[in-house]
Amino acid sequence: MTDKITVSILGTGIMGAAMARNLARAGHDVRAWNRSRDKTEPLAADGAYIADTPADAVRGADAVLTMLYDGAAALEVMRQAVPGLRPGTAWVQSTTAGIDAVGELADFARSHQLPFYDAPVLGTRQPAEAGQLLVLAAGPVEGRDVVTPVFDAVGARTVWTGDDGAAGSATRLKLVANSWVIAATNATGEALALSRALGVDPQDFFDAIAGGPLDMGYLHAKADLILGDRLTPPAFAVSTAVKDARLIVEAGERHGLRLDVAAAGAERLRRAAAQGHGDEDMAAAYYASFEDDSSPDAGAGVDSTTK
Ligand code: NAP
Repeated sequence: MTDKITVSILGTGIMGAAMARNLARAGHDVRAWNRSRDKTEPLAADGAYIADTPADAVRGADAVLTMLYDGAAALEVMRQAVPGLRPGTAWVQSTTAGIDAVGELADFARSHQLPFYDAPVLGTRQPAEAGQLLVLAAGPVEGRDVVTPVFDAVGARTVWTGDDGAAGSATRLKLVANSWVIAATNATGEALALSRALGVDPQDFFDAIAGGPLDMGYLHAKADLILGDRLTPPAFAVSTAVKDARLIVEAGERHGLRLDVAAAGAERLRRAAAQGHGDEDMAAAYYASFEDDSSPDAGAGVDSTTK
């Protein structure tokens, strides 16, 4: 291939590991680092170099991809990477960081002469593993030839939202999309909790809306996780969704908006995390409807709905 490049991945959690694997499989030289090394080591089987430090990971890279928990983690890790960073390296910032943090990250990029690409992704574990994410990207036109192979390896499609990464246009679109995802997840959990409390078989609910505009693939995907008690491993963890929900509420507040559903959704996710569901899929926000999550009856399952 002619566009083989060296890509550093900082953060190999659910999403970063899948993205690193697809970059390696696309023939790129991948240098991976993660705070907990055990999440990086399996990537060696795909040919990735496993770095001990962020600075080691970014050495000689054409592009650095950050896929960390939040903006603060991304900034902290990039600071650690400074001794290995060379001016001109493209920074693909895919962490869902929020609007304010994107400005801070872009400032860091400017001061280290790194072309900055605000590049959050839509899609969860399975599309990430399949290299089928939707990449939302904003950044300079000059230099896109370096980052396009990265986006092509991890995604099915790239939507360019602007040529100034610092303006955060891609992150804004990401927050809008995630407000929908989180609302739909919480609505699914509440509908199932209500069906349980009212003694309604969830299947009767699904049958009632089948084939109409209210019937959503996403409802079935999340309901299956809840009813089948398959909340681990998570596609998108409750603890990560708590962070995203807060970013959405904050963005609304900054723009003089009342986002009542988003605020309530953030509180449900926070409560689910406090109940011990932080590492489970965000569908576990379902449990926030129950006062005492420890009761044996609190578990999901079609069979238990009429208990
Ligand atoms: P994850 O599996 O929890 O990975 C989070 C990563 O951040 C881990 O590598 C973790 O390291 C690292 N990290 C957290 N705090 C850190 C710190 N202070 N210093 C260094 N590393 C730190 O989460 P994920 O689902 O892959 O999500 C990663 C990002 O993608 C998030 O911003 C999320 O909102 C976004 N996203 C997720 C999805 C999804 O469906 N999962 C979809 C689109 C976007 P350790 O392994 O050491 O904890």
